[in-house]
Order: sequence, then structure tokens, then C-alpha cells
Amino acid sequence: MSFTDLGLCAPILKTLSVNKYETPTPIQSQAIPAVLKGRDVVGLAQTGTGKTAAFTLPILHRLTAQETKGPKLRVLILSPTRELATQINDAIWTYSKGLRLKSAVVIGGVPVKRQQRLIAQGIDILVATPGRLEDLIAQKSVKLNHIETVVLDEADQMLDIGFMPAIRRLLKLTPNNRQTLLFSATMPKEIAALAKDHLTDPVQVAVTEISSTAERIDQTVVHMDQGSKPTAMVKLAEKHPGKRIIVFTRTKRGADKVAKRLNAEGIGAEAIHGNKSQGQRQRALDAFRKGSKLVLIATDIAARGIDIPDVGVVVNYDLPNVPESYVHRIGRTARAGASGMAVAFCSADEQKLLRAVEKVIKKQIPAMNADGTAMQPQAARALDKTNSRRTPGRASGKPNKRQWHKPRGGKPGGQSPRRRSTKNAASA
Ligand code: AMP
Repeated sequence: MSFTDLGLCAPILKTLSVNKYETPTPIQSQAIPAVLKGRDVVGLAQTGTGKTAAFTLPILHRLTAQETKGPKLRVLILSPTRELATQINDAIWTYSKGLRLKSAVVIGGVPVKRQQRLIAQGIDILVATPGRLEDLIAQKSVKLNHIETVVLDEADQMLDIGFMPAIRRLLKLTPNNRQTLLFSATMPKEIAALAKDHLTDPVQVAVTEISSTAERIDQTVVHMDQGSKPTAMVKLAEKHPGKRIIVFTRTKRGADKVAKRLNAEGIGAEAIHGNKSQGQRQRALDAFRKGSKLVLIATDIAARGIDIPDVGVVVNYDLPNVPESYVHRIGRTARAGASGMAVAFCSADEQKLLRAVEKVIKKQIPAMNADGTAMQPQAARALDKTNSRRTPGRASGKPNKRQWHKPRGGKPGGQSPRRRSTKNAASA
């Protein structure tokens, strides 16, 4: 299938060809015809699948097909994070070349005045984070009474951040006969309920099962104690010169510490998280995109939805508390069909989290020694036995350094690494 088959107008097709988009991605070929018909859509897709274009292209087509006298706010796109909102607006800018449409982005953390001025000049599309949008509505700078299409992007993330009440309030301010497009990487019950309450007979589209995304990625886990992680991170960065590396930490403080250590070793690194100003986050992302800083350290929320090309390695410096986050994190490295590499650092306290991840991806992640050599099966078995002897819930217990750091090898060709019963895995 080609973009021409999907029924998009000539200026959009031209832009796609200029940007070397030859074939629609699966989410695009499923969603574009439905959106063009004016249908509501529930799209199960994560970032990296081409979902931004899947909703933006048909929206632009519809806006140009029914021109109004001067710009009128007809499309509202809600995003969980400031970065994602900015990125969507950039995509709109790219895809709408040659169309006489105007868009603006309203996000917190930056002065409100400029946003108010842009809106007052007249726009067709508004990309917003819910909090700042509600502020602007309260100040009477934005009205949603002419909205024709609402997009809820990364709905599960908006739920996690606590935006659900704001989203329901905002939807109530838009006309009942609007078109609603909801995209989410996962479908927790609250999102299913939102779709049931606010969408009309939606077309359901879904791409790549969460576990299959992970299949193209070369994944390994390195067992080590928590204290060895900074040095292991430095070594890993040194092993991959010239490659973009994204490092995920559980906490903002952790992200700052890793950045500080890497910079002290002469490895250009930037951290992005919720305590950084919008300007700082944007500068860090720009430096990473341009390649002047090759390591970006992020917390999950700060990194969500950010599109960064050519990431060579994803490091789970800390394993995530929510196992599905592992798949979102490593998905940064296998964009557009490319293969990638993901390394997880796993301390004794994180074994349970590792098991939960392996349950989600439906496979065991091969274990490596800290020096990058394959962990010998006997060592891996010893590790597993030690692990099963640990008292459950002893999360803060100090691991025995000798057992957890660089386990020594045994005979090759034995059992598969870190074998365990299905019962154990299921209880993780
Ligand atoms: P997204 O999932 O929207 O974040 O898109 C991921 C990346 O894929 C972005 O860099 C897009 O520019 C790119 N992309 C989206 N659709 C296509 C396509 N049909 N062909 C080539 N690249 C695409």
C-alpha cells in the first residue's frame, strides 16, 4: 500500500515524498482511512510506530478539505508531556508545508504571554498539555466550542500523571459531535472507560504486540551490585564511542548523579527529568539530537514520547518498577525496523523486577558479565540459587558483593542462564 492509495491530498503527498516517507507504517495504513472518514479511533500503539503522522496527516487533509474564513480552532491535541507536545507541533509544522494552516503549542514551564498572543492571532490546531490548557481556558484565552477533532495522545501516560479528571473536563467543553482519536500504548481499564464514555463507535486499530517489539532488540542483563553501576556505565559508554545512548534511571537524583559521573569522565551527558526547566530539557534534547552530547539520562516520564533517531544503546540503569516500561524504554533503539541494543543493570534488589520484565517480554534476557562476556551457566545458576535463598521483601538488604559483582564462570554448555520455574516467574 502507498500513501496515494490512502486518499491524502496532493500537497500532503508532496511533503511525504520530500521527507522520503515511501510506505505507510501499519498504524498509518489502518488509522488514516478511518480518520479521513470522520470516524472515532482507538489506536493501540506506542511511540516509534509512526502514530503522530497516523493522526496528523488525515487531520490536515480534513482541515484543508473544509476551509473556513480565516483560522478557527478546530483541532485539539492533548499530550502528557511538554516534550511530546512540542514534538507533535514540530511534526504538524513539517507535514503542513504548503497548506495554509496554523498551529500552536501550549505547555507549562514557559511564559504564557507568547502562547496567548499566538492563539489570539488565530490558529487551526492547538497542541497542549492539559494543565496549561485549563489555565488558558480559565483566563478566557482559549475557547473549545468550534473543535471538530480531539486527539488524546499517549492516554495511558496522561492517566499515570493524573490528568484523567482534566481530560474529562476538557472534553466536556468541546462539541458533542466532535471526532475523537485516542492513542495509547496500553489499555488499562480507566482508558477503556474513557473511550467508552467519550468516543462513538470507534474503529479499533492496533500495531505490534508489546512483546514482539522487543524481539528485534539485542538484550542483555548484567548482574552487579548497586555501587558498581556508575563504573559499569562509564565502561559501557566508552565501549560504544560515537553511538547515542539513552540511560533510564528510576529517580531524578539518580539521573543527575549518572550525568555528573559521566561528565567527570569526559563523556558528554545530559539529564532530563521533571525538576529541569523546559528550556533545560529542550537544550539537552537538542544537544542529544545534534550529537554534541551522546548520552541522555532520563526518568520514564521525562522520556515518554520523545522521538530521537538513531539511538544505538538503551541502558536500564535501574530496572523499572512497572515492567511494561522496560519495553517502552528499549523501544527507543529499534525504530523503523532497525535493530538495536539494550543493556539492563540488575542489582540483587532488582531480581524481582527483572522477573516481572521477563514475564512481560515472554523470554529470559541473556545474562552477561560486567566485562561484556557471556555469563557462564554455572555462575548464572549460582546467582539464581543465591537469589532464591534471599528472604522475600528484603529489598533494602545489602547484597554480598562477591556474589553479585562479576560472578565467576564455570563449565560452558550447561543449563540456560538463570533457569527457574514458571511458578517463580509467575509470582514475580
Ligand atoms: P512516531 O511514532 O510518530 O514518534 O514516529 C516515529 C518516527 O518515524 C518519526 O521520526 C517519524 O518521522 C518517522 N516516520 C513516521 N512515519 C513514517 C513513514 N511512513 N516512513 C518513514 N518514516 C516515518
